[in-house]
Amino acid sequence: MSRRAAFLDRDGTIVQGVEYLSSPEELALMPNAANAIKQFNKRGYLTVIVTNQSGIARGYFTEERLTGIHRRLIEMLSREGARIDAIYYCPHLAEGIIEAYSIDCQCRKPRPGMLLRAAREHDINLSASIMIGDTPADVMAGKAVGCKTVLVQPHNNGFDMPENPDFIVKDLMGAVLLMS
Ligand SMILES: [Mg+2]
Ligand SMILES: [Zn+2]
Repeated sequence: MSRRAAFLDRDGTIVQGVEYLSSPEELALMPNAANAIKQFNKRGYLTVIVTNQSGIARGYFTEERLTGIHRRLIEMLSREGARIDAIYYCPHLAEGIIEAYSIDCQCRKPRPGMLLRAAREHDINLSASIMIGDTPADVMAGKAVGCKTVLVQPHNNGFDMPENPDFIVKDLMGAVLLMS
């Protein structure tokens, strides 16, 4: 039976936004993030991180480094009882400098490649799922595959949204409350 998922952006949604975060020491959970993920776990949502990591194509850090960062993130969350079921990242950027990653891919948000791949690999019902993130690209990726979309906006940073999210919340816990 297919499952519903909570697709979660990473930077600025689960952890504090740090430009090209490139070391596990830079990880700092957003307030309430672990608790919110725990609630999604409890409610039967698969929790799937989908994150653009063009720092790899830009040569700022390697995939190995990113793997270490994600290992640490999973550990920080699990210490608070929160489980991440899968992580998908896009290492690409058309105008990158590392040749192997410098492509115009289908996975860099706002394109929905990561969500589609996750749906295939985990038998996810996209129309019963939700995409939560802090930028228009997150909303657009979610809309492209028929998810409900939630924009996390801790401060009113006044994004000019080309497509409106279904909901705007202050933090991840706000998204949980919408789902109950
Ligand atoms: Mg973000
Ligand atoms: Zn990509």
